[in-house]
Parts: sequence; C-alpha cells; structure tokens
Amino acid sequence: MSDRQDDKRGPRRVPLLPLRDIVVFPHMVVPLFVGREKSISALEEAMGKGGAAGGREIFLSAQRKAKTNEPIPEDIFTIGTVGTIIQLLRLPDGTVKVLVEGKRRAAVRRFTQTDGFFMVEIEEIPDVHERSVELDALMREVHATFETYVKLNKRIAPEILISVQTIEDPGQLADTMVGQLQLKLGDKQSVLEMDSPSKRLARLYELIKAEIEILQVERKIRTRVKKQMEKTQKEYYLNEQMQAIQKELGDRDEFKNELTELEDRAKQKNLSKEALAKVKKELKKLRMMAPMSAEAAVVRNYLDWVLQLPWGEKTEEKLDVVDAERILDEDHYGLKKVKERILEYLAVQALVKKLKGPILCLVGPPGVGKTSLARSIAKATGRNFVRLSLGGVRDEAEIRGHRRTYIGALPGKIIQSLKKAGTQNPVFLLDEIDKMSTDFRGDPSAALLEVLDPEQNATFNDHYLDLDYDLSDVMFITTANYLQGIPIPLQDRMEIIQLPGYTEFEKVSIAERYLIPKQKRDNGIDNVPVDFPEDAVRDVIHYYTKEAGVRNLEREIATVCRKIARDVVAKKAPVRTVNDVAVPGWRITPKRLPRYLGPHRFRYGRQEGQDEIGLVMGLAVTMHGGDLLATEVSIVAGKGKLVLTGKLGDVMQESAQAAISYVRARAPSLGLERDFYNRADIHVHLPEGAIPKDGPSAGITMCTGLVSALLRIPVRRDVAMTGEITLRGRVLPIGGLKEKILAAHRSGITTVIMPKENAKDLRDIPKRVLKTLKVVPVEHMDEVLRAALMLPKPEEFLTEPSVPVDWRQPVERRERERSDRRDDPSRMPVASAVPPPSARDENHPEPSGSEEPASPETPGSSPDTNALPPYPVPRLGEH
Ligand code: ADP
Repeated sequence: MSDRQDDKRGPRRVPLLPLRDIVVFPHMVVPLFVGREKSISALEEAMGKGGAAGGREIFLSAQRKAKTNEPIPEDIFTIGTVGTIIQLLRLPDGTVKVLVEGKRRAAVRRFTQTDGFFMVEIEEIPDVHERSVELDALMREVHATFETYVKLNKRIAPEILISVQTIEDPGQLADTMVGQLQLKLGDKQSVLEMDSPSKRLARLYELIKAEIEILQVERKIRTRVKKQMEKTQKEYYLNEQMQAIQKELGDRDEFKNELTELEDRAKQKNLSKEALAKVKKELKKLRMMAPMSAEAAVVRNYLDWVLQLPWGEKTEEKLDVVDAERILDEDHYGLKKVKERILEYLAVQALVKKLKGPILCLVGPPGVGKTSLARSIAKATGRNFVRLSLGGVRDEAEIRGHRRTYIGALPGKIIQSLKKAGTQNPVFLLDEIDKMSTDFRGDPSAALLEVLDPEQNATFNDHYLDLDYDLSDVMFITTANYLQGIPIPLQDRMEIIQLPGYTEFEKVSIAERYLIPKQKRDNGIDNVPVDFPEDAVRDVIHYYTKEAGVRNLEREIATVCRKIARDVVAKKAPVRTVNDVAVPGWRITPKRLPRYLGPHRFRYGRQEGQDEIGLVMGLAVTMHGGDLLATEVSIVAGKGKLVLTGKLGDVMQESAQAAISYVRARAPSLGLERDFYNRADIHVHLPEGAIPKDGPSAGITMCTGLVSALLRIPVRRDVAMTGEITLRGRVLPIGGLKEKILAAHRSGITTVIMPKENAKDLRDIPKRVLKTLKVVPVEHMDEVLRAALMLPKPEEFLTEPSVPVDWRQPVERRERERSDRRDDPSRMPVASAVPPPSARDENHPEPSGSEEPASPETPGSSPDTNALPPYPVPRLGEH
C-alpha cells in the first residue's frame, strides 16, 4: 500500500549548486564549503530570491566526477535534492561556508541558464508513503544492523542512534541513515534515485551489511596486526633485555665467540664423515641452548672431546730397521733375544706397511725394562708414545666409556689416551694386562679384544663418542708380569716375548752404562766428579736390592745421587788426594755405602748363617723373578702329625706328603726306624708366610729338609735346589729354571740342584752365571741328598738301589737286627726321632711268642730293605 504525498510544489526554476563527492539527502543538514565562482553566484541568486520569496531554495545535485572543475549539464546528475540555505558565511579568503538542509527529491527538467551559474527547472519527486508488515520488519532489521554499524564505526557519534530511533517514516529513515554511511558516491546517488522507500531501505540494508562486513574484516585485521605487533614488540623487547643482561654478565659475546671457535675447529679438523655430521648436529643444538645451562655444558664437553681427538693427524713413521736397532741398543743393555724379536717384528711391519700382525706382549718381572723398551720402540718408529695402565681395571666402561646419558660421562681410557697421544698412530702401551679383573660390571678384556683385533679396531666404538674411531694405525704393545694372568683369548692375539730378569753382571753393566749417568743427569750432578766403582754397585745389588729387574737398583742409585746433590748445594764437597793432588769429588766405596743408603737391607752370600739341620734353600719363581725359598723342617716327639705352615697351596701340600711317603718308604735305607713317624710330629714351614706359595717344584727341597732333620745331618748352606718329587724318589722337571738360577746367582749360592730333564734349559742362561755356579742335574732323590747334605763321604751315602720298604715285614724283626748292629762301631745311631730302645719297648711291647714270620724275600735275591745303610750316619756336630 502506497500513496503520494500531496504537499509538493509545482515545477519551478531554482539555482543549482553542483556538489563534489557528496550527495545531500532530504532531511539532512550539511555544511558545505563553496569556492567556485559559479557556485557562489548560484548561492547568491538563491539568497536573493529567497530574500524575496522567503524560500532560499537551491537545487543540490552531485557532479558525476568530483574532479570536474567546470561542469556542463551532462556532468551533473539529473536527480538531486532541493534544499534551503540555513546560513551563509563569507570567509576572508573569498570562499563561502554554507549550511544547507535537504528538503525533497527533485529531478532537473531542463537547464534554463548556463552562464554565470546554472538555473534549472526542477520537478519534485513526490514522497511515497508505504506501510506493510514486511516493511516494519525490514525497518527493525535496519535499525539493528545500523546499531551494529555505529558500534563498529568509531567515526559516527552514538547520538545518531537516538535520533534515528525516533524516525518512523521508512523513506526518511533510509535517507537519514544513508547520510551517515561512508558509501561510494555512486551508491549514494542510486539510493537517492529510488523513490520507493521499501526499495531504498532494502538497498540500504544491503549496503549497511556490506559495510559491517568490511568493518569487521578491517577490525579483525587491525586486531591481528595489533596482536602481531604486540608480540614482535614483546619479543624484541625481551630479546633486547636478555642481551643487555648477558652483556652485563659478559657471556653472550663469549658464547658467540665460542661457537664460532668450535665451528672453526671443526672445519680445520679432518673429521670423518660421520663425525662431521655429528658435530654439526651438536653445534646446531648448542646454538639454541642457553649458554650457562647444564645441557649446554654436556654438549660443549662432547664437542670438545671430539675436536680434541686426533683425526688423521699422524707422525711420519720410520721404517728403518738399522736405525731402530741403533736406538734400541742405545737405550738398553743386553736383551739380545728380545731386541731381535722386536726388530723382526718391525721388519715385517716395514714390508707389509700395515699393522696387521699380532700385538707384542712383553712378559717379565717389574723393572726389567718393559716400559722403557716400548718407549724405545716408539722412538725407533717415529711414533708418539702413550701408556695406559690396566692394573685394577674391572669395568668394561673404563675401556669403552659411558654413554652420554650418564651424568659426568667420559670417554673410555683408550680414547682418553689417544687424545693424550695427539696422533692417530702412536705406540700405545697397555701396561699390566694381567692385572685386569672381571666383575658384574662387565668384562674389560672383552672390550680389549676388540681394541686389539686388527680386523675390528678400524671401527672402534666408544660409548661416549658414539662414533666409529679408527685404531688400525695404533701400534699396541702390552706388558704383563705373569703370562698366566692374561686371559687366554687375549694371549691368542699376542706375540709373547719373555724378559726373565737380569744377572748380576748385566745389572752391573746396566748400572754403569745407563742408570748412573741417567741419575746423575736427572739429579743435576752431571758435571760433578763422582766415582761409583763396580764393587760399590755390586754391593748395592747385593745388600740393598732383591729383584729381577733394576728398578730398585735405579732407585738406590738415585738416592746416592740426591745425597751428593745436597752436598753440592751445601758446598760440602769432600776432597781426596789423587797422585798427591787434592781434588774435590765423591767416591762411593762399599764401605761408605751405608752412609748414603743406610744399613744393609738384605743378606747376601754364604758368609752369613751356617749349615743347619732341617733348613734347605729352595728356588721359586715369584713376582720379582726368581727367589730363594727357605724351607724349614722340624721334628719333635709326637704322634705322627704332619703340620705344614707358611700359606702353602694344595699342590705344595701334596708334594710335602709325597716327600714324607718317599722318606717312609726309604726309611730302612736311611737307617731310620720303619715306624719312626709314629713317634714324631713333623712340621714343615716356609717362612715369609704372608705370601701364598704353590707349585710342585719344592718337592725335593722339603724332602731334603725332612731327611736332614730325621738324620740330624745339616744341609749345606750354599746349595739351592728345585725339582718335583715322586713317591719313588724320581725328580721331575720344573718351569722357570732361568729365573731360579738367576735368583740363586743373585743370592750367592754356589751349587744348584736341578732336574736332569731341565738341562736343555741351561742354554738360555748366561755363561757368566753358569761359570759362578755348580749345577748338579739329578734324576733321583738320592742324588739330591748326596749333594745337599753335609756328608764326609757323599759317594758312600745311599749306594744301594732305592726300593721301597716291604710294609708286610713286621717292625720287631728289624728292631732286633738293628739292636744287633748297634754294637757295630762303624754305625752311628740316628739321633733325633727315634727314642731309645728301652722306651720303645715299653710303649710297644712285642707280641708274646711271636715267631719270626717267613720273609718273602731271601737275602741277596732282592734288595735288603731292612738293612741299615752301609754308610755310617754321622752324629750331629761330627761333620
Ligand atoms: P718395567 O716396565 O719392566 O717394570 P721399566 O721399563 O720401568 O720396567 O724399567 C725400569 C728402569 O730400568 C728404567 O729406567 C729402564 O730404563 C731401566 N732399564 C731396564 N732394563 C734396562 C736395560 N736393559 N738397559 C738399560 N736400562 C734398563
């Protein structure tokens, strides 16, 4: 339903004010600034007319293009608004400010005047009044959206909302609202040109909606931008603050420097591909960490380890065997066989140009030069030297390192040592490989197997580094004191070279040529005249050391040198006369030695002690090479008890039993009671009880002691012996003959009794040593006794064949025979264990009426085991 408003006025002529960029709607009051001459004239015309007609009417219509300065009728929209001038104000610059109010829509019929200003004949467009439910709904909707719009658009004063609310006419509402929207000129004009209010409202609704959308997007963008700006601003601010703090603490720059330094180092190193990738990864991680954090320290440590390791750095290897020989000779006296083995080994390496052969293993007591030989090998081959002691290593992780996940983890000792070595091809000495042990933490020898295996060690993987490291150019040398202590799988990979120990002659030469000059140098008395004659050196060896090697000898020489150094500093040089000329200088004579080294520490030679009953010198192999092992046997009245003391192992206890059984079986030949043991307790003791002792080679020693004690015949103090004994008295071969003979030689023994079967081993013993000793090779215990006991006529002792006693023969018969013979002045009674016959008879009354049992043996047909030895057993003290 619609109807036309009828208070419209008819067509008339009014001046036209062309508007730039603005469309004036009815009911709208707007201020306009007018500057164009033509427009001012139009205003004046309107004012003038208005003055007469009271209308002050003017037609307000927009130019199609705002930029057009001199519009012609075609440039101006034909539909506009007829309005009235409310106020007109001339400004000093000639322009005019005019306040106009839009009244009604009108259309231009024609331009009546175009000169000066435009006069147009207009016809008003009558307002259409409509009313319908849809229109009401639309109005409401428009109200709501407009409200949203106003809220979104900050440029519109909120009061507008109130004034708009009061408008009930849809047409007027649309016109009022349009004026408030920021629309394009075209859109506004199109609304103006719609005469139906519902159409206008609908269009307005669309436009507001679109505007709202734009505003919302704008707002979204604005808030997003704002947020973004806030975030970047915040970050920037915090970063700046952090940098300021770190600068204040002085570590950010340092950290940066450190990172670049690490990078540079990684570039300079010839890292393997794997290692380089790993280092890069870790550096990347580190860069993102706080410099002082614990994690950064872990990464930094790791990088440090990797970069400090030698990667491809090698010393140039010398492969000249002649030169190597010269160096080995220069550093070490003697050791001919050992040096030959080493040179052969080096020669092979020179030919095959690769260390694929077995690993050298130097086995010998301490101080024989194993370490220093390895050092010389390093020198001879032009490699760096590094040493790792395996003594006490019992954890696989000590070899292979801990994983980095552990706090305070480190690489294993192999990698640590290589860092120390600084090159990838050093001589690597694995010291004391026999002293490793195994426990629940894993077996270190298994890890060592990998290290030493040339097939595997090119890709040795340390748990800490977690990288393959190439050990194939490392020359491994191992040392051990005992061959037995080395795990068998390791022994398999090694070439064993034994260094048994030095003779006294060798020690003297080593001292004179190497140790004394070296210690003088080390103690700064190079240029001081010191005379250290051979007999003094010999005395140091005899009375101050007891060893297979020369370590203590060197230590004692060092002590002497230190004392001299002190004298030198204190300016207390002794003066002595040489060829009637007084010269300052030190002369170390055997007599003066105690002044430097204190009283004698060990006994030496036969001048001390005496030949004693039941005391025999055995020979044993110990940690220090060979050693004398004193064996004491004591027999006291008792009940046949055997006591063994001195921490003897099972084998040694068994050989003591064997010795006793032999003596019991041989009792009659020795002139002993067949049941002597029933009335005697035997105590065998090996002094130095704290050291565990084991092995069969003390068999003949214990047997000799036993016989000596039973027969009360002293043992020669200058005799030492070694050999295993059987029940029949056979002497079986033993091991370690060289060490044992050297020990005997060291201790001033003159006679060594040894198993005949070991005679072939004498070839290894220096001739000079053999010259000072009488070696008695024996096959049977009887020979041992003849050589060891203090007998006036040894050749007459135990001459009859050794046949064990017949146990079936009763003791009584022998007793009788024996008492008959006791009258024989050529025979001597056995003094010790055998109590006097009277006492015996009391204790063991003979069975009454016993007949002499039929002897299975006829005298002469078989050896007379009951007969006393033809040799007269001497009384104690008769020798
Ligand atoms: P090891 O490693 O076998 O226990 P070292 O190599 O430490 O013994 O030797 C101890 C000392 O004895 C070193 O100073 C070494 O130079 C010296 N030495 C050992 N044997 C000889 C030798 N044959 N010639 C010269 N010096 C030696």
